[in-house]
Amino acid sequence: MEHIRNFSIIAHVDHGKSTLADRLMEFTGAIEEREKKDQLLDTLDIERERGITIKLQAVRLKYKAKDDQEYTLHLIDTPGHVDFGYEVSRSLAACEGALLLIDATQGIEAQTIATFWQALEQDLEIIPVINKIDLPSADVDRIKEQIADVLGLDPEEAILASGKAGIGIQDILEAIVNRIPPPKGEENKPLKALIFDSYYDSYRGAVAFVRIIDGEVKKGTKIKLMSTGKEFEVTEVGAQMPHMTQLDSLKAGDVGYIAAAIKDVRDIRIGDTITDAKNPTEEPVPGFRPAKPMVYAGLYPTGSTLFEDLRDALEKYSINDAALTYEMESSPALGLGFRCGFLGLLHMEIVQERLEREYDIELITTAPNVIYKVLTKKGEEIEVRNPAQMPDPSQIDKILEPYIEANIITPNDYVGAVMQLVQEKRGVQRSFEYIDKKTVLLRYDIPMAEVLFDFHDKLKTATRGYASFDYEFKDYRPGDLVKMDIKINGEVVDALSFIVHRDKAYRVGRNIVDKMREVIPRQLFEVRIQAVIGSKVVASARVAPLRKDVLAKCYGGDITRKKKLLEKQKKGKKRMKQLGKVELPQEAFLSILKAE
Ligand code: GDP
Ligand code: MG
Repeated sequence: MEHIRNFSIIAHVDHGKSTLADRLMEFTGAIEEREKKDQLLDTLDIERERGITIKLQAVRLKYKAKDDQEYTLHLIDTPGHVDFGYEVSRSLAACEGALLLIDATQGIEAQTIATFWQALEQDLEIIPVINKIDLPSADVDRIKEQIADVLGLDPEEAILASGKAGIGIQDILEAIVNRIPPPKGEENKPLKALIFDSYYDSYRGAVAFVRIIDGEVKKGTKIKLMSTGKEFEVTEVGAQMPHMTQLDSLKAGDVGYIAAAIKDVRDIRIGDTITDAKNPTEEPVPGFRPAKPMVYAGLYPTGSTLFEDLRDALEKYSINDAALTYEMESSPALGLGFRCGFLGLLHMEIVQERLEREYDIELITTAPNVIYKVLTKKGEEIEVRNPAQMPDPSQIDKILEPYIEANIITPNDYVGAVMQLVQEKRGVQRSFEYIDKKTVLLRYDIPMAEVLFDFHDKLKTATRGYASFDYEFKDYRPGDLVKMDIKINGEVVDALSFIVHRDKAYRVGRNIVDKMREVIPRQLFEVRIQAVIGSKVVASARVAPLRKDVLAKCYGGDITRKKKLLEKQKKGKKRMKQLGKVELPQEAFLSILKAE
């Protein structure tokens, strides 16, 4: 164990984490230059396209240090998005140290601070690395100042590096060996392994990535998952080097994977502890909590996709994504579908994209919503995951909504713009602090519903791309909220109902009917759109019918041919949903999100 080092790289997005990880693998001979695809750690296509890492993985590197000893380094990757905060905390819990990467041209950003705090909470040895020093605009002195003032670390301990140009790589490896302590733990104690990631492999079944705290595990070990008590027999243990490589055993201090013919990835819960079923450890690793969705949305089949197709696709997809929850739901407007729970909005987009791309599913997604807690006059507490199910106002005592705690870092020139934006989003300022001469760190509590959709884009626009933003869930607070319904030709479309703050209700209602008028195609009859609260109409608009002679001019010919053409046109339009006689496009369902 003296020769093992377990570490992560933490950074704001784009500060060079994947590039440095590749460089470390290359330097230690784990990958050859020619083998290096774009970035090996980001395996999924979508991840690579979006430039973010979703799956945590752990790579074992061998490094012969200047002291002539050979060390085993485990580089544990962490997801780079706020939706996956809990997963980040579990992978950091598997480490003794972290490289804190800071882009020398950008300086400290919101995620730098958020991940730094997470690493501190886990008591990790933190090695600051000033990256991208090959760029002419690198300002090392400014970053050093920030490291001292904002993080309270000794700037002289920072390593100057460039993952891209290969500068400082050996310094980083030496620092890992010399500054990060070896793991503690005992091989002779009962097995205790922390699960920090999982994935599904069609050959091995559900695979757990683990850090062995105590004991040893090998093929044939009867293991028990402590949160559920379920037992399995290990079929394989190993490590990524960087390819999946079978090993004889994993021992205290090691990081690697365990396969045990587990069929359902839901049995492998991140943060759970694996122990020896015959000789169990007394206490699990602290900090386990079941994955909890923060955002819900309805997914409904459309086009040629049937409910059964969607159900099969969700079943298959969720084998590899334990964080997704779904239950059948029936909407008077949309028919049978699923109410799905996601960790956040990005998670939702990923699920939607992969269902469409990998399972050839056509979907309508309703506007996502947070989870509301309703206290009724009878004294009950109800969790509302679907706005259409909000109880009648006469029964409601209070509605509580989730709040986030947000960090925003911005150049001081844009502080006014940021404040204005956050105020529009009902944010409450907690603190205001200069982190260097021209940069301000602002802390806010903001209702989660207000940042769900385009807050990040708006923030970037308001600050010409300079501000950064990170958040975590904070608490539930009462809000003056009302349910707004949308009526199409006099009928409430349940899938379009949403919750809004009373002060914004009129503006939002107006906005939505205007947006919907733009996106609903003209049909053979007039379409009336109304936003209502209870029986009160807040705003309305109409889509004028197509004129019959226009149709005739367009298509000419006899009526059956006309009908056929219309039919064909309909099929060609993806993501449309027929509501009674009216056809609604996907945009209509999402116009709620875009309304201010
Ligand atoms: P991540 O989001 O932290 O994983 O960042 P990436 O490793 O994907 O890098 C983001 C961008 O910065 C990419 O365009 C990289 O080519 C570039 N980059 C990364 N490291 C360096 C570096 O040391 N120098 C320069 N000039 N560019 C870098
Ligand atoms: Mg990356």
